[in-house]
Amino acid sequence: MAEIKITFPDGAIKSFEAGITTEEIAKSISVSLAKKAVAGKLNGELVDYKAPLMTDGKLEIVTKDAPEALVVLRHTASQILANALHQLYPDMHFGVGEANEDGFFFDTDNPAQQVSSDDLATVEAKMRELVKANLPIKREVLSKADALALVEGDPYQTQLVEAAAAKNENQVVVYHQGDFVDLSDGVQMSATGAVKIFKLLSVAGAYWEGKSSNPMLQRVYGTAFFDQASLDADDVRRQEAHDRDHRVIGNDLDLFFVDPKVGAGLPYWMPNGATIRRTIERYIIDKELEHGYEHVYTPVLMNLDAYKTSGHWDHYREDMFPPMDMGDGELLELRPMNCPSHIQVYKHHIRSYRELPLRIAELGMMHRYEKSGALSGLQRVREMTLNDGHTFVAPDQIQDEFKKILNLMVEVYADFDIKDYSFRLSYRDPENTEKYYADDQMWEKAQTMLKGAMDDLGLDYVEAEGEAAFYGPKLDVQTKTALGNEETLSTIQLDFMLPERFDLHYVGADGEEHRPVMIHRGLVSTMERFTAYLTEIYKGAFPTWLAPHQVSIIPVSDDHQGDYAQSLRKQFAAAGIRATVDDRNEKMNFKIRDAQTHKIPYTLVVGEKEKADESVSVRRYGQDNSVSQSRQDFLSTILDDLASYSRE
Ligand code: ATP
Ligand code: ZN
Repeated sequence: MAEIKITFPDGAIKSFEAGITTEEIAKSISVSLAKKAVAGKLNGELVDYKAPLMTDGKLEIVTKDAPEALVVLRHTASQILANALHQLYPDMHFGVGEANEDGFFFDTDNPAQQVSSDDLATVEAKMRELVKANLPIKREVLSKADALALVEGDPYQTQLVEAAAAKNENQVVVYHQGDFVDLSDGVQMSATGAVKIFKLLSVAGAYWEGKSSNPMLQRVYGTAFFDQASLDADDVRRQEAHDRDHRVIGNDLDLFFVDPKVGAGLPYWMPNGATIRRTIERYIIDKELEHGYEHVYTPVLMNLDAYKTSGHWDHYREDMFPPMDMGDGELLELRPMNCPSHIQVYKHHIRSYRELPLRIAELGMMHRYEKSGALSGLQRVREMTLNDGHTFVAPDQIQDEFKKILNLMVEVYADFDIKDYSFRLSYRDPENTEKYYADDQMWEKAQTMLKGAMDDLGLDYVEAEGEAAFYGPKLDVQTKTALGNEETLSTIQLDFMLPERFDLHYVGADGEEHRPVMIHRGLVSTMERFTAYLTEIYKGAFPTWLAPHQVSIIPVSDDHQGDYAQSLRKQFAAAGIRATVDDRNEKMNFKIRDAQTHKIPYTLVVGEKEKADESVSVRRYGQDNSVSQSRQDFLSTILDDLASYSRE
């Protein structure tokens, strides 16, 4: 038998007979290692623990604590899931199954009776039987013809075989699990008994191949771990993420909806959500006016030529809606960004150096054709309104203006009680400078200037090479969503390119024409993403100034205290407070609970006593007890609360 040379991570080289398995090698090293190991990694590629090794190479033994081990475990779990589903629903068709850092899933189609979340317990019980049976798992490579015969009658699997065969010289990898055979190319554990700690989580629709024109399959999600404590911790994390999920809260509080039938990624803001948005918009406009911005309104449609000049048509076309051909030679484009619009505002007059920095701002609506799979509630949409601003500065004003914007940003964050964020300075990739606007000196200068400003302000930041926009370096403010994904909330971007492309000037003190620099900045991102973010950080309990309903007034008996409740409402409304009287024909306790469920900051109960002495019984959201206050004192309390902006 031929020999193979195996190199270990410490550099040692040993010879083995070809066909030896990772398991046998692990055992030859130590019994405890063999117990912890789940797979091998030969020349960087995962291999099954019991697969014969036929070539020389570097071998790492993958143990349970390695990050790849979880994926191996979850691949196995996903196949056990498919096996269980196949046994319970013999006519079921299967799309793709996958395992990743988050868990595993399998796509299914059973037109007669689609699997639903009610079926998860039965499916999970069947999986446990398969685990108990400890079925051996084996990999096999089939010819395309054999693989096609195996999946005959399943349209999805047939397509998957075709695709796999086309990629891999007409060979298709399958895994056997006892008598069950399944297409899979993910490395697996050696027997089903290894998957002891797992859980099915949910069922949700997923389009075949992610395309909305294809049939909708049912995706069954689950997760698996090597130990119970990790599964428990994951449970807590998922629950917390669910409790914060802005799509869940948005539905509970009736803030917004998105209905793919009337337009995927096109949100409808219901009155409650619209109130929050209007409050944010008014706040932002006031704040920006105070800081020297001039607000404008510009059209969402623009002649496509502007986007050709700006470079968006060349670099950003994939994210743009197709142009509208108006039939008379005019092509109109739904704008994906507002910059060219604000450039028109700048260009409309001859500008003098005395006008700089010129700050143009708008709550600008824009449209981006995001992939349907990427759309998520208000977080990623196709129609959005950006808190946009473009400052036109002379080159020597860049650093000062950058600091001003940053200070404004920090001020705004404090008003919204946003604390968990970090700064990222994004530079061009020094290895790949041809991808960027060509002016080495400009890049060096601008990057050093941004860094200097951050240091002057004493702010912490990370530096990311290769993350800059193609037209200049930028600062991004990173936050985390409930699901733990990092996303950019605010951004400040220097741009040396657009002023050139649109041939912008200002007249300097010397009477000559000079080129301004443009700074793009979004303070609180789009209204959509910001509202999603706020909903998650507040868990739907918006601070009083943002809450759609600020006060719920509940008369003990509408017949007796209804008039008093209405007089309170009028008094509050006159002071700009959003108060409602809950005069529904329901029990008082129900109404109090309802106000709490809707996270209304103040619930006022008024009975005979309160009516008689012009007082209210106040219960603050989240507190168990009420306090009695005169109506005037309560008004001062809530006005103070509103004036403070941030939460207690
Ligand atoms: P992303 O990387 O999230 O796609 P981007 O880098 O394309 O964003 P910009 O062009 O800088 O973003 O847009 C400004 C801001 O608009 C972003 O910082 C982001 O917060 C927000 N935004 C971008 N795309 C969307 C979207 N599809 N839905 C909601 N908000 C968005
Ligand atoms: Zn811009």
